[in-house]
Amino acid sequence: MKASAFSYARATSVANALELLTAHGDRAKVLSGGQSLMPAMNLRLISPELIVDIGELAELRGIAVSGCILTIGALTRHVDLQRSPDVAAHAPLLTEAIAHVAHPAIRNRGTIGGSLAHADPASELPACMVALSATILVRGPKGERRIAAGDFFKGIYETALSPDELLMAIELPVGGPNSAHFFHEFARRHGDYAIAGLAAQATVDGDAFTELRLAFFAVGDRPVLASAANRLVDVRVTPAILSEASAALAEELNPQEDHQASASMRRHLAKVLMQRCVSTLLGRSDLNTGGVA
Ligand SMILES: Cc1cc2nc3c(=O)[nH]c(=O)nc-3n(C[C@H](O)[C@H](O)[C@H](O)COP(=O)(O)OP(=O)(O)OC[C@H]3O[C@@H](n4cnc5c(N)ncnc54)[C@H](O)[C@@H]3O)c2cc1C
Repeated sequence: MKASAFSYARATSVANALELLTAHGDRAKVLSGGQSLMPAMNLRLISPELIVDIGELAELRGIAVSGCILTIGALTRHVDLQRSPDVAAHAPLLTEAIAHVAHPAIRNRGTIGGSLAHADPASELPACMVALSATILVRGPKGERRIAAGDFFKGIYETALSPDELLMAIELPVGGPNSAHFFHEFARRHGDYAIAGLAAQATVDGDAFTELRLAFFAVGDRPVLASAANRLVDVRVTPAILSEASAALAEELNPQEDHQASASMRRHLAKVLMQRCVSTLLGRSDLNTGGVA
């Protein structure tokens, strides 16, 4: 199938892109890497009247560290994230996760801003943003807004962005000396969207977590920051405590059922991921019971 007829405008500046979006409202769509937008248009899931191509806006591209903040421009491509020494040094969770996003051809064009604005609940990057306590910078006709990642994702393909706003950049706090991360997903094949996944960021002091952020993906309508993780912080984790946290996790998740997995399978996989994460980050093989505790 081919997309319905549409008009195309190449934005010459951020101000120009915002003017076009303001003038056309929800009849316009921003084009970044096109790796999600074009398939959706070709399948006629959406039929915008105008495409606003922001691909030439250099100010939306790039990765920079200033003080304790890592800033990533919205147009930064997946491949550039994957290769960035700054990302590897200050947000290694992202470096690890990006290798699981689709395939090289898609990573060569897809952008972080597109991935976050698209807000697929099975996507890796939105969960990383939640785990890393990112702030998302957006700009619209009324000025700039800074939105915590936890408030940005509103549902399946739904975000806090208005049709007349652009996602500009992402700010990440750089990891401290005791920070640790864990990433794993279950997918049918490497590069496929996950059936269930976990992006985790932690601070470990001796044999305990002083902070543990577990952001699950593909187990709800948006990334889920698990409250069950709080049970594992500032305590010596025992198999009994982990088992209680596992049960609490299963209670708080409300996974969807689809052609890939039932809701109970996704709950089970999430428990397996939590146990693997905790045993890996604490270096305690006795805590990995395969998710069945
Ligand atoms: C075969 C295939 C497999 C894939 N597998 C995965 C996977 O495993 N994991 C995964 O996470 N993704 C996967 N993707 C999606 C891919 O990562 C996309 O690159 C990404 O989701 C969107 O980035 P983009 O730059 O291409 O955005 P686009 O397709 O250009 O845009 C996506 C949406 O975001 C909006 N948008 C884009 N940029 C902005 C902005 N700056 N401000 C406001 N709105 C904006 C667009 O209007 C559109 O609605 C896959 C895609 C394909 C085709």
